[in-house]
Amino acid sequence: MLVLSPRWAWCAETGLREGVHIVIEGNRVADVTRERPTGDAGFVELEDGLAIPGLINLHNHVFSAPLFRGLADDIRPGDLPGHIVFSLLMPLGDLVAAEMAEEAIGDAAEMALLACLQSGTTAMLDVWRPQQRAFIARANGLGLRTWSCPYLFTRPNLSMTAEGKALWMGEDASDASFDFVMRLHAEAHGVGLASVGFGPHGPDSCSPELLRRIERAAREMGAIVSIHCAQNPIELAAVEAAHGRRSVAHLRDLGLLRPGTVLAHMMFATEDEVTEVRDHGAAIASCPLAFARSGRGVPVARFLESGVRLGIGTDGVTLDMVEELRAAALLAKTQSGAPAAGTAERLLTAATRDAADALLRPDLGRLTRGATADIAVFDLGAARYQPVWDPLKALLTNGSGADAHTVVTDGVIRLHQGRPAGRDARAIVARGRRAIEDIWDRAAARGAIPPGLAARRARTQEALA
Ligand SMILES: [Zn+2]
Repeated sequence: MLVLSPRWAWCAETGLREGVHIVIEGNRVADVTRERPTGDAGFVELEDGLAIPGLINLHNHVFSAPLFRGLADDIRPGDLPGHIVFSLLMPLGDLVAAEMAEEAIGDAAEMALLACLQSGTTAMLDVWRPQQRAFIARANGLGLRTWSCPYLFTRPNLSMTAEGKALWMGEDASDASFDFVMRLHAEAHGVGLASVGFGPHGPDSCSPELLRRIERAAREMGAIVSIHCAQNPIELAAVEAAHGRRSVAHLRDLGLLRPGTVLAHMMFATEDEVTEVRDHGAAIASCPLAFARSGRGVPVARFLESGVRLGIGTDGVTLDMVEELRAAALLAKTQSGAPAAGTAERLLTAATRDAADALLRPDLGRLTRGATADIAVFDLGAARYQPVWDPLKALLTNGSGADAHTVVTDGVIRLHQGRPAGRDARAIVARGRRAIEDIWDRAAARGAIPPGLAARRARTQEALA
């Protein structure tokens, strides 16, 4: 038996409570009680602790975080030869897939996963390429709950013409990517804390035949489908040109708008399209910082007002969900002009209960009796929180994921006093950093870093020399 005794506990179902003990037996919350349990138990007491259901990152590319860190920020006109997705993110991702050893990919992923754990994330839906399957073992090793949704493509290699049109190249990869997911599901789904679903890249890069096949298989297997949708105007134009309808209508006609489908971004969706997604029971994963970086505000206010099932993802820009939720809250306020929009409680609900429901796991994202014990305890003892009038607002407005003190997944302590249980955090960081610096050097040597960015890197190095 494990007992967490923070000062406050919150979940969307029960609201905020003070002075309760969270009793964990096996992998379940056995009780949440004011009476201090007696008997043989491990106690974690934290005077200024706030326990919430572990944060769920609903759209992530964990490996991209260290890979693009420092490369994709402050992009100026001319730094990139085209849209960031097609001129930097996809090509460098391709190079990694082709060049990096599996061990090095695992090391980089593990460093990023550690950052997630250390900021109170207990679960994530992560979209990755087949070469990154070390993700699963590394996440299991740290005790993180994951939904792997490997990419599926019809035409895998994306680039862009000088006129800004997307160019799809390469052999038809439909069969290979579908077979990969089916094999991975057989081998890894249900092993440790890993689940496997489908990650068709987008309605533009996957043929209707492939999407239909995914729809059928996911339905039969009860698997999650994650797909980028209405992500950028290039995608919308390509879908409209090929199929005579917009992305949301296209996915609806293919049967993919339903519970268990997570639509990433919906940045360029209309109000009616958001309503349609809501009415079909699919979820949206919105990633404010990824778009803010490119100068756009994701329509958080519209999503919140619509009542659509909304989760938040970091998209590999930051890995700190507290930071991402704060960005979402500020967008909701500025877009609606209403200070009461995007409250701390509403966004924490999105990142816990609503994200769990989007993943068809109503046993997660709650601190109620019988819930699966995935819990994050933040220490609100630091100066930046004082005095604490409302611990949820304190965390969202003034807090940091770095104040995650204890993290439990599946009833087991995975992080204590900010340190990963039984693991050497410094060694994980050292290995991860080495792996990323190595691939940057190789990318530079091959000209895979766009000239504008390479010149910028050279200028910075010169200035430092
Ligand atoms: Zn994405």
